[in-house]
Amino acid sequence: MIGVRCEEIAAAVNGELAGVDPAAVVDGAVVTDSREAVPGGLFVALPGERVDGHDFVAAVTESGVTVSITTRPIDGCPCIVVADPQKALGDLAALVISRLPDLTIIGLTGSSGKTSTKDLIAQLLAPYGPTVAAIGSQNNEIGHPRTALKADLSTRFLVAEMGARHVGDITYLCRITPPKVGLVLNVGHSHIGEFGSQDAIAVAKGELVEAVLPGGTAVLNADDPRVAAMATRTEQNVVTWGEAPDADVRATDIELDPLGRPSFTLQIGGESHAVQLQVIGEHQVANALAAAAAVQAVGLTPAQIAEGLSAATAASKWRMEVTERPDGVTIINDAYNANPESMRAALKALVAIGRARGARTWAVLGPMGELGDTHTEEHDAIGRLAVRLDVQRLLVVGEEARPIHLGASLEGSWGNESAYVDTMDEALELLGKELQQGDVVLVKASRYVGLDKLATALIEEG
Ligand code: ATP
Ligand code: MG
Repeated sequence: MIGVRCEEIAAAVNGELAGVDPAAVVDGAVVTDSREAVPGGLFVALPGERVDGHDFVAAVTESGVTVSITTRPIDGCPCIVVADPQKALGDLAALVISRLPDLTIIGLTGSSGKTSTKDLIAQLLAPYGPTVAAIGSQNNEIGHPRTALKADLSTRFLVAEMGARHVGDITYLCRITPPKVGLVLNVGHSHIGEFGSQDAIAVAKGELVEAVLPGGTAVLNADDPRVAAMATRTEQNVVTWGEAPDADVRATDIELDPLGRPSFTLQIGGESHAVQLQVIGEHQVANALAAAAAVQAVGLTPAQIAEGLSAATAASKWRMEVTERPDGVTIINDAYNANPESMRAALKALVAIGRARGARTWAVLGPMGELGDTHTEEHDAIGRLAVRLDVQRLLVVGEEARPIHLGASLEGSWGNESAYVDTMDEALELLGKELQQGDVVLVKASRYVGLDKLATALIEEG
């Protein structure tokens, strides 16, 4: 972290110094995990699910942190005492960001594709200046400020993934990192159980557009009506991308190669450039266009963008990770997460890959979480879509996902093409018997069911 005196930190987080020299400087990393504490750094004691950060304040003091942020004074340990350490973490990040006037912040949100797009943007920007981006999916009120605190005076770009579970969440994150560019990908169904409706989700995600700084740019999906409508929520520049003919950034001549990687002609700023993506699935074209529009807004040229997109790889794990087994079976591990939109995208990618190879396709699907009242209907629709897309075999795993199997069975003349099993062990057994050389197998479900273990087991079995 840039050097900040304890008294300045206390003022910013509304805290009381306890056993600290007010002039002592924090210039090491800010951590919430005591094992990562470094001399000169700062430890934030958060109440965890199993452990309380306060139990580790003595240990981090021993490792040489300048100060800890706590809810009570702790004997022999320099502390800044606050009512809410999590909020203090956000306030501290906001203080640090306010001292980095040359930093350009790109914020992005959406129901699906945030991490994929964040990784593309970070890779596009990196050649043009030191870039900080969240690791993986750190997009909430803890991960976001921790990412922001990695920026220092040498950092040129900060790419911030912003998640929302409630109205107001994104406004909170944007106060920490006021965005020059605010990118909204889509309004789907993730966390609809908490929001109640897609319109409520749009209200929450649009907070990013409202937070765009004067002279900045809102980057909006022309194909998603709820996102396109957010243009009215800012006075700043608006740039759109998508298939719509009037979108500012578009893709023509989209094709998928046998590995499922899209190529297309990027239409941007009055120029056309060939792009060959390294990431998998047609949905990545949308993410690439969004990333292109976002980095154009901070000054990259069309040629630089096309070159960067063609070089960028999938930097975060378990998103459409393709592994070829020695026995000729291909496993696509997309078990990081699932909602109806990403299920559709993954099924379409599976079918495209299968078609390009003339291979038999399998979709091994578990449940999608947090769908509230729409749970049965959305699962049923995925089963029906699998039939319509002509996925050859469907294997549905776990009681919560059963409506996928029922939907598929009702949609077509499917008999043994769709199977249902209760457990991952049963799924493994069935696949062990039936998989043949050349088969392509997609494994996908919401994160909490742990279907990645099935994907890993399948990869190891080959
Ligand atoms: P989270 O809310 O878990 O952080 P995220 O928004 O960061 O998710 P990613 O991790 O990029 O999203 O992708 C999650 C899933 O959505 C993956 O399975 C991926 O294949 C799929 N996906 C990625 N981009 C899109 C898109 N533009 N439209 C639909 N699905 C997508
Ligand atoms: Mg993410």
